[in-house]
Order: sequence, then structure tokens, then C-alpha cells
Amino acid sequence: MLEFDFIIVGAGSAGCVLADRLSASGRHSVLVLEAGGSDRRFWIKLPIGYGRTFHDERVNWKFETEPDPGTGGRRSYWPRGRVVGGSSSINALVYCRGLPTDFDDWRDAGNPGWGWTDVEPYFRRSERLVDGERSQGDGSLHVADVSRAMHPLSRHYFAAAGEIGLKRTESFNGPAPEGVGFYQITVRNGFRCSAADAFLRPALRRANCGLQTGAVARRILFEAKRATGVEFSVGRTVTTVRARREVILCAGAVSSPKLLQLSGIGPAPLLRRHGIPVEVDSPAVGAHLQDHLAVSYYYKSREPTLNDLLHPFSGKARAALRYLLTRSGPLSLSVNQCGGFVRSSDSAQRPDMQLYFNPFTYATSNVGRRPVNRPHPYSGFLLSFQPCRPTSRGAIEIRSPDPDAPPMILPNYLSTDQDIA
Ligand SMILES: Cc1cc2nc3c(=O)[nH]c(=O)nc-3n(C[C@H](O)[C@H](O)[C@H](O)COP(=O)(O)OP(=O)(O)OC[C@H]3O[C@@H](n4cnc5c(N)ncnc54)[C@H](O)[C@@H]3O)c2cc1C
Repeated sequence: MLEFDFIIVGAGSAGCVLADRLSASGRHSVLVLEAGGSDRRFWIKLPIGYGRTFHDERVNWKFETEPDPGTGGRRSYWPRGRVVGGSSSINALVYCRGLPTDFDDWRDAGNPGWGWTDVEPYFRRSERLVDGERSQGDGSLHVADVSRAMHPLSRHYFAAAGEIGLKRTESFNGPAPEGVGFYQITVRNGFRCSAADAFLRPALRRANCGLQTGAVARRILFEAKRATGVEFSVGRTVTTVRARREVILCAGAVSSPKLLQLSGIGPAPLLRRHGIPVEVDSPAVGAHLQDHLAVSYYYKSREPTLNDLLHPFSGKARAALRYLLTRSGPLSLSVNQCGGFVRSSDSAQRPDMQLYFNPFTYATSNVGRRPVNRPHPYSGFLLSFQPCRPTSRGAIEIRSPDPDAPPMILPNYLSTDQDIA
């Protein structure tokens, strides 16, 4: 049986960073198992391409929640990356380190080493902030300041924010992240810079780090309560691999609890219901699910927006030519251009709401085999907000012992007075 020191399940944001760090010394062998395939795809590399990958089953798990009472019995669509780079290969590229106080909350909840002053040096070490020709830091994750490339409509957004007393911030990743401003994005020379680009590719150049794509982990193997390996399938072939030191689950917020439950770690009644032998009765596995439910308002605009450029064929062609020649323009950007971290009320002790302003609106239509997000045929923009710290709690539960069955996602949205107020 093949043996490695560390087996990492999932080549997403977390898995790629760990593969890099654990293989850096050269002393440990590392295997990364990824269910999806290669990320060498045009719509992944093109920054604005996430409008395409949003519904693309070749790179996306395309989860759906169960019907939820909080949203009037609706199901919600939960895209998640199923590809090298994971969700960092299909996300909207916006880079925010997180609010310092949120990390302090983690520390204060009993996690020494996770406060802001503890984690900030690691952010610095991994980042390279690029602003035109200037760059700061020598990390491998390229974070671009694209404020000068933003759509002119943003001036109205900032003026309106100022009118209701929201202050401007220079950077969400600087010392004063509260307020409204331009988002920085993870792009390098006009291409998406995913966690795979920044961390996994350098790691794979080392002889002691390997990646197996198309490998779906089915369960973790145990010997006397110790995780010693992983059973995974590639196509119809089921294989096992041994870990001398650790099995590290980085399968994301939906699939990590699913895999633990399939492996016998989870709420005992749930596991027994599905005939899974209980390794550890751990009711918290799959519990405490939190999601930042967003509300988006679409507006028609009297001023031209990105719709005017990206809806007509001639505009798309112009934008494509500009991108090909200069790696700039709207195709090199996220559509989430501005936003903010603000307080939803005067009584809030710190920012509890994230805002978005996109000079762009779109409809999801079925083109060919899969739905695609397409710009509206009129000038439009989008205003969106979501809570940073929702108090509603949901759950992830396996629906069967079949590793190929998606888990049940029970968001339990808007189930507390605080989330509705
Ligand atoms: C459409 C979209 C837009 C987003 N926009 C932003 C944004 O602009 N800014 C931001 O900060 N965040 C954004 N996010 C969120 C961010 O990308 C994720 O929070 C982050 O990537 C999660 O990292 P992760 O390592 O936990 O999981 P993922 O990156 O999802 O990685 C999990 C990996 O595990 C693999 N996997 C799962 N199950 C198995 C299995 N059984 N066997 C083997 N492999 C498995 C998956 O295929 C995947 O590659 C967005 C997410 C999405 C989906």
C-alpha cells in the first residue's frame, strides 16, 4: 500500500496552503487527493470567467440546500469548487483578510494562537500586494489593488454611502478596514491567482509532494481510534493510501463534515440511522452551520454600466481584444468592485455587515447544456448586503452511506430574532 507522511483531502484554499507548508522542509512526504480535475481552463484563468464556472458541473459541486423555512421553503444554490484550487478557482476573487476582531473572537473562544496579532504575520508572509508597477511583500498570493480600473459609477456609490454617514477606507486589508472602499482581488498579470497557483504549484515542483486528481475520498481509515489512511476512488477503482503521520481534511465546509460522518465521526444517532459504525460520537460534526445569506437589489441606471459594454457582441469583442492585448479592462476584474464592512445600527460594537456594489447586473439563462450568467440588455447595477456574523445555525447531514450522494444541507436561515431584525 502507498504510504505518505501527510495525506491532505481536498486541493482547495486550505489544502493548497497546507501542501506548500508541509512539504517546504523536504523532510515529509505529502499526498493531496482532489475529487475534481485540472484547473487549466480558460474560464478559470480569466478573472471575470466565474460567471461561467458558477454553474459548470465540470468544476463545481453545484450543491443545493434542502427547502428552508426561513426562505419560504425555497432551496438555495450553493456553488463550491470541484477542481484543483477548489472554490478559490471559481470564486469572485475579492481578497479580504477578515476583520481583526473576528480573529480575536476565535482566540477568546479558546483557540490560543488565532488572535489577530498571532495570524497577521502569516497573512503578510503569504501575500504580495501589487499596485501597477509597484509591489509590496514577497508572498506568492498576488493581491492586486485595482482601484484605478474601477467603473466610474462607483463615485455615486461612495457619495451615497457618505450621505448616510459611512466612512471611506483606503483598504480592507489595512489597519482600518471599517468603511466603504474598493475591493482588492487575487489576480496575477491579468489572470486569476488561485490558491493552487499561489501555493500548490510551487509545492508540486518538490519531489516530496504529489497530487492525485479525480480522487474522491470515501472514508478515513482508523486503527484503534487513530486515523491511519484514506479510502478513495478514481472512477470505479477503489484504493487505499496510508498516512504515517496525519490525515488532514480540507474538503470544505460542506464535504469535510460529510466525510467525517461517513467515516464514523459524528452524531451517533445519525450514523446508526445509516448503518455506519460509530468511531466517535461527536454531535458537533455537521452542526453549527453558518451562512451569510445575501440580499441583492438590482437597479436600472441612467448612466451606462458594464452591461452596456458586455451585453452587445461588439462590446464583448472590444473587451476581449483589450484583454488579449493588455490583460486589462473589465475581463481582468471581478464584478464585485466596491463594498464595505459597516455597522448595521448605532448599537453595533463593530462592523457586522458586508456590502457590495457591482456596476453590472445579469440574468441566469440556459445556453446550450448549462445555465450561464448573462448581462442584462439595459444599464444596471447591483447593491447587495450580507451579515458578517449571522446567529442562525444549520446543519450538514449525510443522506445515505453512499459517498457519491451529496449531503443534506439544512441552512436554517433567519431562524433567530437577531438575524431578522
Ligand atoms: C462562487 C463563489 C464565490 C466566492 N467569492 C469569494 C470572494 O470573492 N472572496 C472570498 O474571500 N471568498 C469567496 N468565496 C469563498 C471562498 O472561495 C471559500 O471560502 C474558500 O475557497 C473555501 O476554502 P476551503 O479550502 O475551505 O474549501 P474549497 O476551496 O472549496 O476546497 C475544498 C476542496 O475539496 C475537494 N473535495 C471535496 N470533497 C472531496 C472528497 N471527498 N475527496 C477529495 N476531494 C474533495 C473539493 O473538490 C475542493 O477542491 C466564494 C466561493 C464561491 C463558491
